[in-house]
Amino acid sequence: MSAAPILPGPVEGRRLATLGVMGGGQLGRMFVHAAQALGFQTAVLDPDPTSPAGRASDVHIATAYDDEQGLAQLMQRCEAITTEFENVPAGALATLAAQRPVAPAPTAVAIAQDRIAEKAHFAACARDTGVGPAPYAVIEAEADLARVPDRLLPGILKTARLGYDGKGQVRVDDRAALAAAWERLGRVPCVLEQRLALRDELSVIVARGADGAVVHFPVQRNLHRDGILAVTEVWSGNVPDTLAQRAVAATRAIAAQLHYVGVLCVEFFIVDDGSADGALVVNEMAPRPHNSGHYTIDACDVSQFELQVRALAGLPLAAPRQHSAAVMLNLLGDLWWRDGQPVTPDWAGVLALPGVRLHLYGKHTARPGRKMGHLTVTAADAQAAIATARVAAQRLGIAPWR
Ligand code: ATP
Ligand code: MG
Repeated sequence: MSAAPILPGPVEGRRLATLGVMGGGQLGRMFVHAAQALGFQTAVLDPDPTSPAGRASDVHIATAYDDEQGLAQLMQRCEAITTEFENVPAGALATLAAQRPVAPAPTAVAIAQDRIAEKAHFAACARDTGVGPAPYAVIEAEADLARVPDRLLPGILKTARLGYDGKGQVRVDDRAALAAAWERLGRVPCVLEQRLALRDELSVIVARGADGAVVHFPVQRNLHRDGILAVTEVWSGNVPDTLAQRAVAATRAIAAQLHYVGVLCVEFFIVDDGSADGALVVNEMAPRPHNSGHYTIDACDVSQFELQVRALAGLPLAAPRQHSAAVMLNLLGDLWWRDGQPVTPDWAGVLALPGVRLHLYGKHTARPGRKMGHLTVTAADAQAAIATARVAAQRLGIAPWR
């Protein structure tokens, strides 16, 4: 990363600095919104001509991620480039990084792309933080199946690469199921994780600058359904202080030991260990803003996307402050279907509620399990946020969670 910041607004009274993003999904779209609000121009590279971020961006380069001409165009347009998803081809990021500041660095993204490398990093950090991954084994060849210790079963077999929203994961109860699942996943490199009895799930989002300065958001408490984030709740006191402090410390260490620049989210499990608060286990990291941080747009004075912009541009990272209790509800494509018939969710009904902010990502087709948008409920206190979120969920047909 270059030391001089990239400043927004007209440079020398003439042209606007441009920030680029690899990927055109909703995370890229919210990055674009934040960059534009600060006075930057944006360029998005995504092959889909109707991508959510591409449509919001000043410039949309609609080529494949590894298309040489597309990458050349992006470099020519942009002062600095980030990514909105971890599965950008590593070679493409390396090409960009040879000529432009790229944050996070391709080496950090490569680790987050691969559960085997990611878990090795967590295990190394655990020597300092005391917070490690779930017990696991690497499965790369037939012989690894026989070496799996009994204690990892029942477990979850996860592909090392390209998993998201619970895709590429199979729950296995015994050795026969494990062998069959690995076969079904195409014998690709995998990790087998012990299936833990989760008491809770948390996530921590930090932003780290090239100078090593780190700021963090409050610890998020997350509810997943079918492997997909469903609800995030954030207010003071929702996570015990000691647990929250340990999770933040572990996330800072994970970022620092990667020499990370940008926004990083680390997901944690809480499991019973006999103590009152339970023990922390680190699950996975995302080298970018995260779904569990969408509430920061409406409930914090600086959002995770603005911090991504600032970190990329080398601008100061002011510590964010949460000013409202928040409940975030994910809006999956399922809401557009009832008994096999297409329906339109009752947006007017939820917008009538106080403190509700609706964010739809501009996706044309609603499919079950597809993230179409989210809704943030903010209020002066947790009780009010929960009460409103319950009514909103009921009006939209989202199952109650409390
Ligand atoms: P994301 O969309 O967050 O990238 P992913 O597909 O990479 O998801 P994970 O975060 O590994 O998947 O798992 C998704 C969810 O499945 C977790 O949030 C948790 O609810 C459950 N899960 C994953 N691993 C375990 C485990 N070892 N024990 C119990 N539950 C687990
Ligand atoms: Mg996850």
